[in-house]
Amino acid sequence: MKLVLHTVRWLLVASVVGGAGGSIHHVAGAEPAAVAGTQVLKWKDGKQAVFLLAFDDSAPSQLRNVIPELEKRKLAGTFYLVTGNGLYLNLRPKWEAAAKSTSVVIANHTFTHKGATNVADLDRELGKGNEVIYALHPERKQPRLVGFGKPGGVPWTVSKEEVQAALEKHHLVDRPPFYGPPMHYKSAAEMVAAVDAAIQKGDMGHMDFHGVGGDWLVTPTEWFTALLDKLEASQDRVWITDVVSWHQYVTERRTAELKQLPSDAGIFRLELSCQADPAFYDLPLTLSTQVPADWKKVSVTQGKNSAVALVRNGQAQYAATPGGGPITLQRSE
Ligand SMILES: [Zn+2]
Repeated sequence: MKLVLHTVRWLLVASVVGGAGGSIHHVAGAEPAAVAGTQVLKWKDGKQAVFLLAFDDSAPSQLRNVIPELEKRKLAGTFYLVTGNGLYLNLRPKWEAAAKSTSVVIANHTFTHKGATNVADLDRELGKGNEVIYALHPERKQPRLVGFGKPGGVPWTVSKEEVQAALEKHHLVDRPPFYGPPMHYKSAAEMVAAVDAAIQKGDMGHMDFHGVGGDWLVTPTEWFTALLDKLEASQDRVWITDVVSWHQYVTERRTAELKQLPSDAGIFRLELSCQADPAFYDLPLTLSTQVPADWKKVSVTQGKNSAVALVRNGQAQYAATPGGGPITLQRSE
């Protein structure tokens, strides 16, 4: 019944020539924004869940045992580097090279990992960490969002509010609290089960590491590769990404607005916006639009971007950037 209704709405929309723009439907809560047959999907590419991999402390074993395994499977992880201590400085050329890998997203784990006992300390630790991280990619825009992981086991006597203000000042995205092997997961099977749990919940799951196959708080290499094999095999259902992309997608989706624009016969136009600052929140969202039953492919255009979307179950699924200009859908042969 719902499908039929959508189709009727679609046909009505498609037959309006130069009519007035449609209604705006803004949903601020967990429900994705939707307008007459189009909705923002919960996760990128319509996947069922998200999974984040985090690696702390610039542990050298990550260069040896983590990055090559991620690259082999074309997966990505977030590396929370401590960029002002001897450990990092000794391996600096290797980390600089690793930062160029598409499997590596660099994040801020403070400059020295010595903690923060006052606001000035905190500001310096975050600011100097960001300076090194920005210098790894001079070609990328500045400022931009960078992931943040609070260092554990060190004095941290700044208030929640002070941390929040400092993170905002430095455009840092706080990650979910550390949870990983060998403390919280005691076997490869438990780690693999965490992926299934995320799929079952349809939500974000994450796994956080120190050393892998060496260094400290060590995860055995076999446990780690078992998790990666599971993630690789689950890629059709799980979006494996970095902390900033996850945060951008959720923030944009939660404040997304869809507006129907005047449409001609066979051409559907709409606009996507969100309340987040486009200077920092420019990740494309995945949209799904109900199209007439006989459409097999849909040509989607937004600004300079053009793509052909396949239709599955009467739905065209495609990427669109909030604030990226009008989106046009039409039948493609
Ligand atoms: Zn740490």
